[in-house]
Parts: sequence; structure tokens; C-alpha cells
Amino acid sequence: MKPEDLLQKAMNAGLCLTPEALAFLKELPPDKADAVMNQLSGQIFVTQEVVSELLRREEGVPQQVSPALPPAKPAVRILKDITGKSSCRGELKDFISLFRDRFQRLASVLKSRPALNPTVPLSSLPRMEPGEEVRVIGMVADKRETPQGHIVVELEDPAGRASVWIFKSSELTSSAREILPDEVLGVIGRVRESWGGSPSIFAREILWPELHPRAWEGPEEPVYAVFISDLHIGSQMFLESTFRKFLSWLKGEGEGKLRELAEGVRYLLIAGDVTDGIGIYPQQERELAIADIFKQYEYAAELLSEIPDHITVIISPGNHDAVRAAEPQPAIPKEVAGRFYELGYQMVGNPCVLDLEGIRVLMYHGRSFDDLATVLGMPRDKPTNMMRMLLRKRHLSPFYGGKTALAPENQDLMVVDEPPNIFHCGHAHIFGESEYKGMLLLNSGTFQGRTSYMRKQGINPTPGYVPVVNLQNGKVTVLHFA
Ligand code: FE
Ligand code: ZN
Repeated sequence: MKPEDLLQKAMNAGLCLTPEALAFLKELPPDKADAVMNQLSGQIFVTQEVVSELLRREEGVPQQVSPALPPAKPAVRILKDITGKSSCRGELKDFISLFRDRFQRLASVLKSRPALNPTVPLSSLPRMEPGEEVRVIGMVADKRETPQGHIVVELEDPAGRASVWIFKSSELTSSAREILPDEVLGVIGRVRESWGGSPSIFAREILWPELHPRAWEGPEEPVYAVFISDLHIGSQMFLESTFRKFLSWLKGEGEGKLRELAEGVRYLLIAGDVTDGIGIYPQQERELAIADIFKQYEYAAELLSEIPDHITVIISPGNHDAVRAAEPQPAIPKEVAGRFYELGYQMVGNPCVLDLEGIRVLMYHGRSFDDLATVLGMPRDKPTNMMRMLLRKRHLSPFYGGKTALAPENQDLMVVDEPPNIFHCGHAHIFGESEYKGMLLLNSGTFQGRTSYMRKQGINPTPGYVPVVNLQNGKVTVLHFA
């Protein structure tokens, strides 16, 4: 097929092909290319791996699975992922476009809320009468507490600025304390008499973008997805025997109910920190069992290769993995984890949005928990509280300038555009399961014992807890391997 025709078709279908995917499709006979393209509908970014996998299925290459299991690995649709699409050159103007994109996306969410209709731009405030009620939307430039205990939030929009006052006695104070710099908020309040400087508003209500519930429309029959993270392979504290027990359960070596459950597993999701990495924290080398990053991934692949073939393994990186630290992180690359690619794992970025048989999964390692803990004083041992906070703000790393480095992409992929059915994080090394507006929140714990770093931080990890979710109905079974 001619490249122009292919591109046209892709554009009509709303697909964004990587250059490699396009080159690959171009070489196929037109009917094959057409068949593959038809199967891609609904996806956004399409890599060559996705195309070749579909082609393989199209050509009916026999799979090595036991007859009781589905004939092919179910397709995982990747709805959102930076991998292969990074536009970042690290220039100042890129940061400006990143923040502009963040503002626009979240402001449009806020504008759709009836309570915030209509809003006025901040630049129009100086022309308004004191006492007049206004609705505004802005990005938080700064937050401070006055000596009298009032909270003042500096808001900015593309053309103006205003100071929002939350009085000490106001019932808004506790929620105002949750405001982070760089997040986007709506405020309802009254214009305050101007004493020069930027215009001020007395806040009556603060509105976060929030998420609305999403319907659970999973498969017709029970299908199980297993959620893990923070293996830290290569660390002396990697709990290999615990992890091997988990693997033997997956291989169906359990008894009764456990075995039944394992037989229904079709997906294994790993939300980062597959390996311990190198040079991640001071004197980490003293706590490494494998000091070579390549060997850490080789060993990880050796262990993971025991996972039965009928299970689709999806791996996204964390702050310990060998990929850029700035978020969004692309997938752990072939150069360092080649075996994962040979094993056919779905290598995705962090964060990443996937569709598993109708269930929308948002995976995020959880680096910004560090900022929520430092800036807002949120307890580190309650990861699902932090996950809820991120969903309210509809942003996975709302605060810029802390632990979470952001890559200046021209689109803010850390914005949560759509509510997920399942929000999966790690990083905390503490298992957590909760619910927020019908969304299932899972923090999958760890397979690492307590490191010196955690001792310093006062963290008591909960290793070996594994949530297993029935995608048909959202029911969670928590397994514990010791
Ligand atoms: Fe970790
Ligand atoms: Zn981590």
C-alpha cells in the first residue's frame, strides 16, 4: 500500500502510527495491511510491535497454550503512553507549553462543572465592583499562610493573576491546606476591595477538577488480572523465595481455590521498580546483590520467564528502572531489557492507560507520593489516600520542583483525562486497596524487605501482598505470599 494511502487511513481512524509501524505496514500486501488496520481501531498510538503482533495473529501462527485456555493472548489496547513519542528537547519554551497544556486541559474540565459556569478571566477582576460574586479558574502559582493564619493562594491564568483569600475561621481552611503549587483550581468568591497590587477574591468555595464514576463493563466471563510492583530484583533485600512462591502459584501449582484462581489469570501488570537499579540512593551499592544493571534485568527476565505463556505480562517502569527519571517515563528500553522484548512482554511507559477487555486501567508508579508526603504532610503508609488525592486533582504529579521531575513534553500526559476503572500504583511498598467514586484503587506493595533508606524514613513495607482482580465484576482477592 502507498504510504500516503496508509497515512490517510490511519488519520481517518484516529491512529497515530510510529514511523517504524508505518514502514512495516507499507511493506505488507494491501489486504494484510487493511486487515491489520481494521483491528487497530480504537487505539491511538501504534508501534511496530503492535502491528507485528496483530499480523502474527492474523496469519494464525499457532500459540503454545494448553487446550483449556483461550487460543490467543488477549489483546491489550494501549490508550495512552509516551513510549516512542517523546517530543521533549528540554528547552524553556517546552516547559511553557507543558504548563499551558496542563492549564487548558484541566480548565476545560472545570468549566464543564455547572457550579463554575460562567467563569471570568482573572484579567477582568480589576474592572469589577468590590463584593461582586465571581467564578474563576487558575493555576496555583504560590500558596502562603499569613502571620494571622489566613491562607492566600496566588492564581494565574494565561492573561491575569489574583490573590485568593481563605480566612482562618473559614470552613474551607482544611481543604485549602491540600492545595499544591501548579495545580489547577476553580474558585467561587467575592471580589475584594483593591489596595493596589493584584486583585483579590474572598473564597467561598474551592473546586477541584475531580473525576466522575465510570461504568464497569468488563468481560462476560471471569477473567483475572494480577497487579504487582516494586520487585527490586538485584537488591539484597529482594525476597526471592517469596517471589518464587508467587510464581509457582501463577503456574497453577497451588491447591483448590488458589489453583482455580491462577487458571483464570490472563494479565500480569507490573507498575515499576522491576529492578533495584544502580545509583538510586546514597550508598545503594552496599545493598545490591547484583551490581550490574544489565545483569539485574537478565535475572529479572530469568525469573519472569517462568510465567505461563497464556498470561500477558505488562511492564511499566518506576524510579529505580533504567530509563529517564523525568515523568512521563518511556518503557524500559530494549538495550537494557532485551529479554523482556524477546519474551513478548508488553513494555509500556509510566504512566500508562490500558484497556483490558473493556476495563480501563491507569498505571502509575507513584513517585509523586514523595511530594505529597513532603509538601502536604500526607502519611506514607496510606498510599490509597495519596492516590485519591491525585484523582481529585486529576493529575499524577501535580507539584513541579519536588522529587518528581517532569519532562517538558508539549502535552501534559500526567493529566488524568478520563476516569479509570482501576488505578494501579506502587512505590509506597505498602499494600493498599480502596475505592473512590466507583474506581478501584490498588497499591500493589512490594517483593523487597526493609532497606536502610526505608528505615530512615520510618517505612515498614508489607511485602508479598498481591491483589487479583476479576475483570468481570471488579471483585478483588488479596493473596499473601510469605
Ligand atoms: Fe520501589
Ligand atoms: Zn519507586
